[in-house]
Amino acid sequence: MDAALRETLKQMPKAELHMHIEGSLEPELIFALAERNQVKLNYASVEELRRAYAFTDLQSFLDIYYAGASVLLKEQDFYDMTWAYLQHAREDNVKHAEIFFDPQTHTDRGVPFGTAINGIHRALKDARAEWGMSSAIIMCFLRHLSEEAALETLEQSMPYRDKIIGVGLDSSERGHPPEKFARVFARCKELGLRLVAHAGEEGPPEYIRTALDLLKVERIDHGVRCLEDPALTQRLARDKVPLTVCPLSNIKLRVFDKVGDHNLVKLLDAGLTVTVNSDDPAYFGGYVNENFVQMFDALPLDKNHAYRLARNSFAASFLDAQAKQKFLDEVDAFFEQ
Ligand SMILES: [Zn+2]
Repeated sequence: MDAALRETLKQMPKAELHMHIEGSLEPELIFALAERNQVKLNYASVEELRRAYAFTDLQSFLDIYYAGASVLLKEQDFYDMTWAYLQHAREDNVKHAEIFFDPQTHTDRGVPFGTAINGIHRALKDARAEWGMSSAIIMCFLRHLSEEAALETLEQSMPYRDKIIGVGLDSSERGHPPEKFARVFARCKELGLRLVAHAGEEGPPEYIRTALDLLKVERIDHGVRCLEDPALTQRLARDKVPLTVCPLSNIKLRVFDKVGDHNLVKLLDAGLTVTVNSDDPAYFGGYVNENFVQMFDALPLDKNHAYRLARNSFAASFLDAQAKQKFLDEVDAFFEQ
């Protein structure tokens, strides 16, 4: 890739729509928080923890991810974690971020729901005040737990309804199909929450279909396996259902063996509304710009693709029409230069 394209990728205004805030905890911060909160880690050093990031699949990652999150106890911890992510996002010219958080990862350890969301929300508010960063919070249900637990979490979130734009579904996909959460998603829809779900990452294309039909989601997180089902691919293209693709995550979790094997170009060629995101940047080798750079380095992607991906990121967001248009105009102006 030439230097000009690399600069374009880095400088272009973009939105990030698939990023788990707990997945932005860098080993250094995990150790700092462990010390501050006197939490004992099963790793002797930052280096040893980083070495453990050699994942073989989604589950091997989740085991370490939950261990990392165990250092988050106080509101300030959630603030510090979120603030660290926001600094990276700012450097990457992320103008709008829709951030996932996993309340059950915290409430199941005895950390109150409010402690987590208030810390995250306060950091987002400060970033908005300091450099005009736009953001929203999406609460995810852990799909390896029961639907009853998700309903209970939804109940706990009610006092914070004004801080949450939508709900999602994450954690271990295989063996936990979308239909397991049909009731809780129906309830969320009634409440006016926006709906997304992870589907078709490790799970089959059928999970994408049931997420759309039974959960009524508006975006599919990952969704890269849709290409195995041509009728489904056509439907996603026709209905402009956005896919929040996370390339480096897919490589780290062995959905694809190497960067050059990723199906990003095929997804774009199929006419899908693809976006590029970092998923769990501290664990998967980079923030959103690194995802762009590595994909464009390895695949036949050019400036037109960059333009399309930047536009898609805002078009697929849950911003209101006016804010969306403002950012789309910014993207157009940037590429006209
Ligand atoms: Zn994810």
